[in-house]
Amino acid sequence: MFLLITIAVCWALAYFRVRLRIWTAVLAAVILLWTIGGHAGHTIVFLAWLSFMAAAVILNVTDLRCRFISRHLYSLFKRLLPSLSRTEREALEAGTVWWDGELFSGRPDWERLLGMPAARLSTEEEAFLAGPVEDLCRMLDDWRIVTELHDLPAEAWRFIREKGFFGLIIPKEYGGMGFSALAHSQVIVKIASRSFAAAVTVMVPNSLGPAELLLRYGTREQRDYYLPRLARGEEVPCFALTGPDAGSDAAAIPDTGVVCRGVFAGEEIVGILLNWEKRYITLAPVATVIGLAFRLLDPEHLLGPVDEPGITLALVPASTPGISVGSRHSPLGIPFQNGPITGRDVFIPVDWIIGGRERAGQGWIMLMEGLAAGRSISLPALSTGEGKLVARAAGAFAGVRRQFRLPIGRFEGVGEALAEIAGSVYLLDAARTMTCGAVDLGERPAVISAIVKYQSTEHLRRIINRGMDVLGGSGISLGPRNLLGLIHYSSPIGITVEGANILTRSMIIFGQGVIRCHPYILKEMQAVANPDTETGLAEFDRLLAGHFRFALANGARALFLGLTCGLLAKAPGGTARRYFQMTAHLAAAFALAVDITLLSLGGSLKRRESISGRMADILGNLYLMSALLKTFEERQQPHDELPLLKLGCAECLRGISDGFYGLTRNLPLRPAAWLLRILAFPLGLPSGVPDDRLVQSAARILMEPSAVRDRLTDGIYLPAELHEPLGRLEDALAKVIAAEPVERKLRDAVKDGRLMAGTDMTVLDAGLQAGIITGAEAEMLVASWEARREATRVDDFPSLAM
Ligand SMILES: Cc1cc2nc3c(=O)[nH]c(=O)nc-3n(C[C@H](O)[C@H](O)[C@H](O)COP(=O)(O)OP(=O)(O)OC[C@H]3O[C@@H](n4cnc5c(N)ncnc54)[C@H](O)[C@@H]3O)c2cc1C
Repeated sequence: MFLLITIAVCWALAYFRVRLRIWTAVLAAVILLWTIGGHAGHTIVFLAWLSFMAAAVILNVTDLRCRFISRHLYSLFKRLLPSLSRTEREALEAGTVWWDGELFSGRPDWERLLGMPAARLSTEEEAFLAGPVEDLCRMLDDWRIVTELHDLPAEAWRFIREKGFFGLIIPKEYGGMGFSALAHSQVIVKIASRSFAAAVTVMVPNSLGPAELLLRYGTREQRDYYLPRLARGEEVPCFALTGPDAGSDAAAIPDTGVVCRGVFAGEEIVGILLNWEKRYITLAPVATVIGLAFRLLDPEHLLGPVDEPGITLALVPASTPGISVGSRHSPLGIPFQNGPITGRDVFIPVDWIIGGRERAGQGWIMLMEGLAAGRSISLPALSTGEGKLVARAAGAFAGVRRQFRLPIGRFEGVGEALAEIAGSVYLLDAARTMTCGAVDLGERPAVISAIVKYQSTEHLRRIINRGMDVLGGSGISLGPRNLLGLIHYSSPIGITVEGANILTRSMIIFGQGVIRCHPYILKEMQAVANPDTETGLAEFDRLLAGHFRFALANGARALFLGLTCGLLAKAPGGTARRYFQMTAHLAAAFALAVDITLLSLGGSLKRRESISGRMADILGNLYLMSALLKTFEERQQPHDELPLLKLGCAECLRGISDGFYGLTRNLPLRPAAWLLRILAFPLGLPSGVPDDRLVQSAARILMEPSAVRDRLTDGIYLPAELHEPLGRLEDALAKVIAAEPVERKLRDAVKDGRLMAGTDMTVLDAGLQAGIITGAEAEMLVASWEARREATRVDDFPSLAM
């Protein structure tokens, strides 16, 4: 009994993160009670006091603690810490920490999340979406763009430039649209649901590129000159970082700019002699101005005392002598403009460095800061737009297409595929809007941007695969009628750009997250790196005490929530309360796992990408689940969205569970893995398997016109015209559903023998003659058959020279 009380007291002290002195006082009182109570033998009491006194003295006397504990850990930490290059350090330090910090704390503050205002569009932004964006979508015929024009139509290019699509993020004072991140994202969502090539064309100038860099870092002259020109579409920008030898390892670019004297526009000036070879550059073949990343060298010290200032960014007009541009890559046949650019002995003034000569050598940090915002918006919007189109099209198709005398969506197997699509789209939309909201409030969430980029492009890959399964041959036979084939083609592009996904998952998300978002690691690294060893050690010692209490608290909290299935976690009330509680438990488990993983792997974390990838999965899914919950609450817990919320959460829980399972099986320090398993999941891992009824009710959402179906796919381009494939499918769906009662009458009549079985047409005729259905009903049924046949037809070609 006494032992149990002692354990309970220790657990409570850990849970409430009390200070060391309180630990000491309370434990002394407990042992005193033990001694007075006479429950233990003299030897045990003596040993208990001896070990308590030794530990209490060493831990409470700073000098002793430093000498016997902190100094050793300090040396170990110093040895284990991976050496960070300047570019790695800059990448790690870029951007801000937001909800990711809460998840790392193990105790996410739901009030903070729910208190964050919901992102909203202004009237002007809504008008732009309903006007120019709709008009642009109407101009785009993706099949023609891909197979005939190999480019956007000239009128679409003109429209994009003239209507301000290249200036969505440029403030109004420079003639841009000055849109919020949410509006920017909505524009991409709509265009992506119409044409991938057009979406990329609009996306790139508004993402990481000249406009973004000028706004953040440009000199007044650069901003005044370029921003109005970019906003008016007089300049087409591109941004060139990647080259043949520097893809994922972009900081390794070999392209150089040597500071030297030379003649420019007839005058001798100090300038930069550039030589570069870049590839995969979007918009390069048509660009008029190139944002260029290169390694700046200053051997004659014309700019300053440093020989190699490092990566630098400049804006170079494409017409500058020495630049060759114009040839194109073919990114999976999707014809957005993308190609190589080379520059041979291109001499430019130093003033062309973005931000002027003071920014020489600061290119990498500028890029990383820009990426933190841009990556939060573009690809998540692109993936969500395409995902919504898949949801709408696959759902309608499954309601229209019949096999075995039933709409295929009524078969459970197809229902599973539809439900997976529906849950994932709901989840993507929630993550997209919540992240845009954060960016609009001034966050540049570096780690979260990597999470949403990775998760949204991976989800889209699964969504389109499931969509293709549902459409069968109609998805496979390419042609103007095919709604999904080109999305299937293009899905690897999002996976590869803005940080390829394998790298993002296995290296960036957790690697950067643990340093930026953990409350102690970065500070400890800085203390260890302090050249004044004694000050560094004193700081390290102080941090270590806090870190230790933090880890103990997470262990105690994870165990408490694990034993109570999270039911006692503080969480907002309402329909989604259970999911808040589960997320609270899993966040505590994650925070504990972070310290256990660090303890287990030490400095080898950077090499153990599989473990880092699993931690990225857990963190990413915790973020997605938070976004789902926030969105559901913001919308006032709509009952009709409950199946989508549950499916989305199930998907996240599956990712989290798999992550923890893989982690505990693979942590090299086995006792640490067992400790994690016992503390965090004493009753087992949570299950992410949704029940079959839930799956089928989510599938039905996609197959029947309804408010919730419209909300799920809101923001995409929805043509009503019957010559449009989506318009035809929607029309057929409405007609098929309207004709269902008529069909049922005929079916019942056949079943009870009033009509003879036969072909659809003979049964209809017989039903009409027997007065089972009216003439109007017969017409309605025939119209639904015709619409179905038309909507499920596929293209054929006299020859395959497409
Ligand atoms: C269509 C398209 C448009 C693009 N647009 C632009 C643009 O406008 N401007 C620009 O500068 N760049 C652009 N890029 C470049 C893009 O950002 C790079 O392609 C990307 O960073 C990957 O480089 P890579 O293709 O050379 O792949 P590699 O670096 O060769 O990588 C190949 C694979 O290895 C993985 N990998 C590499 N290193 C690691 C590691 N340490 N751990 C785990 N996995 C790893 C990657 O994840 C990837 O899966 C574009 C690329 C494409 C395809």
